[in-house]
Amino acid sequence: MLNLEECNVCPHKCGVNRYIETGYCKADINVKLNLYQINFTDEPNLSSKNGSGNIYFSHCNTSCVYCNSFSVSQFGWGKVVSKQSLADIMIGFEQSGVNNVHLVTPTHYSPQIIEGIKLAKEMGLSVPIVWNSNAYENVETLRELEGLVDIYLPDFRYFDSKAAKDYSNAENYPDVAPKAILEMFRQVGHLKESNEIAKKGIMIRILLLPENRNRVDKILKWIHDNLGKRTYISLMSQYYPTYSTAAYPEINRVLTKKEYEFAVDKLEVFGFENGFVQDIKGNNDWQPNFAKENNK
Ligand code: SF4
Repeated sequence: MLNLEECNVCPHKCGVNRYIETGYCKADINVKLNLYQINFTDEPNLSSKNGSGNIYFSHCNTSCVYCNSFSVSQFGWGKVVSKQSLADIMIGFEQSGVNNVHLVTPTHYSPQIIEGIKLAKEMGLSVPIVWNSNAYENVETLRELEGLVDIYLPDFRYFDSKAAKDYSNAENYPDVAPKAILEMFRQVGHLKESNEIAKKGIMIRILLLPENRNRVDKILKWIHDNLGKRTYISLMSQYYPTYSTAAYPEINRVLTKKEYEFAVDKLEVFGFENGFVQDIKGNNDWQPNFAKENNK
C-alpha cells in the first residue's frame, strides 16, 4: 500500500513523512507542476494534429546529470496545485480536443495523481492518460495505476549499472526498470492505435547517450526477448550536453550520426516492427519553455 507518511512510492523507499519533510526527490505532500500546455512535438501517434495535453511535474526521483529540464526536476521550479485543480486541467485539455492527457515525470506524485485522475474521470474525462516516466518505479506503485493509465511511455535509460550510478545516481536501475516495464506491459499490452492515434498500450523511449553509454544494444535485446518485436520503440537522438555534463567529458557532446545509426541498425537487426526514429538534431528547439515565474 502506498504510504506518504513513510514514503515508499518509488525504489528509493526513503521512509520520510512527506507531510513534514522531504526525501530524495525533494517533493513534499503537495503536487507541484511548472507548466501545462498542448504539445505538438511528441511522437506522431501521440501529438497528431490535435496535440497532447502535457503536464510537467516539478521534482524527480532521479537526478540525471544531463536532464534538459533540470530547473523543474532538480531545482523544483513550479507551483502547488490541488487535486481538484489537477482534475480541472485534465478536463480543460479534453474540452480543447487533445488526443490525450500526458503526465510528464509523475512517479513521485503517484498517490496524489491517482486521486486527481479519479476526480477527472468522475467529471467525465475520457481521453487516454499517458504516463511518461523514467521507469525507476516500484511494481507495487504501478499496480495502483491499473485501469487509470491507458498508455505507458517509459524511458528505458540504462542497461549498465555504472552509467546508471554515474549519470542518474540510480545504480540498481538495470534491475528496477525491466520489472517496472513488465508490469506496465502486463496492464496495457502492445500499443493499439485508431486512425494512427495511440489509444492504449506501451511505447518505450530510448534516449541515446554518446559512446553508447546506456547500452542501447542490451536494452533492445531485452525488449525483444521479453516483450517481442511488435513493441513500439521511440529512438531519440535529441541528447545534448547540459546541466552537469561538463563533469563527464565522455557525454559532454551531442550524438554523432554514426552513433545514432548504430542504434537504428540494432532496431533492424532485432526486427522491431513499430516505432519512431528521428533525424540527428543536436539542438534543443523542442524544449518546452519552463518559466521561473511559475515558481510560486
Ligand atoms: S517518492 Fe520521493 S520521498 Fe518517496 S521514496 Fe521516492 S524519492 Fe523518496
